[in-house]
Amino acid sequence: MPPVLAGSDPLRHGFAATPPLGHQGEALAPAAIGAGIMIKEESTVFHRVIMGNLEYSVADSLAGVSHGFSTRLGGVSTGHLASLNLGHHRGDDPEHVLENYRILGRAIGFTPEDTVFPMQRHTDIIRLVTEAQRGEGLFRETAQVCDGQITDRPGVALVAFSADCTPVLLYDPVRRAIGAVHAGWRGTAAGIAAKAVAAMTDAFGCRPEDIRAAIGPCIGKCCFETDADVPEAMVAALGEKARPAIEARGEKFHVDLKSINALWLREAGVAAIDISPDCTACDPARYWSHRRVGDRRGSLAGIIVLK
Ligand SMILES: [Zn+2]
Repeated sequence: MPPVLAGSDPLRHGFAATPPLGHQGEALAPAAIGAGIMIKEESTVFHRVIMGNLEYSVADSLAGVSHGFSTRLGGVSTGHLASLNLGHHRGDDPEHVLENYRILGRAIGFTPEDTVFPMQRHTDIIRLVTEAQRGEGLFRETAQVCDGQITDRPGVALVAFSADCTPVLLYDPVRRAIGAVHAGWRGTAAGIAAKAVAAMTDAFGCRPEDIRAAIGPCIGKCCFETDADVPEAMVAALGEKARPAIEARGEKFHVDLKSINALWLREAGVAAIDISPDCTACDPARYWSHRRVGDRRGSLAGIIVLK
């Protein structure tokens, strides 16, 4: 069955065409963002791919490299893990997880044996992986804690898990290198997305301006209510530039993790950044949200692989 490309619907989540760092409808002028920045309207840059029951999303910025951001739709897992659970430590039947990777891999263009899982711990550690790590996670334990992975090897499918946290995929079409990052609020404050760009520069000689980025579905500012510690960490890391992504509501705060990750990427020199309009906590039929259901949930993933 040919995939159906459907435009995403940003209006459902109140994220309509908000440019990164836009705040309450106040879009930043391009001059305030920086010269040569390509920021496209969110509604046009992410697309849903629908193949039978399977649904995932792809970003225009990553055209030319096989990739996808999963939903919970289209797998074989059951109960609260129904149905496309990609997490191997969620209490799922390992055969179901394996089959879910087969299903998604057939659509995106990898096999379960190609995958390399990170051992995510909300760090800012990036690890360089090669063919030697293929199968880590699904077939043997991942050897090293990290929250970001990079490679220039074809056939190595990098995985970044999420369920509210921000998945970021990176692609340099010039040097042919990729990255996959898990950025929760701690990783976001630590600038792990920018550190992945720096790691690609160091390891592969990438130029940041050649690197293209996609920030996948995660908890939106609409639902990410925090205490003062989260905005304080963002301002400590980024200064006043972080303020437009923070909104005080009474004694609480709402923080836009997508915008802050985009800010880190721009600071690192990345120009092409696409941002998913979807909020994982707003849409329980499509996404798992740790904020919404706690630990009884499956895992989503962003996956990228060079041919
Ligand atoms: Zn929301």
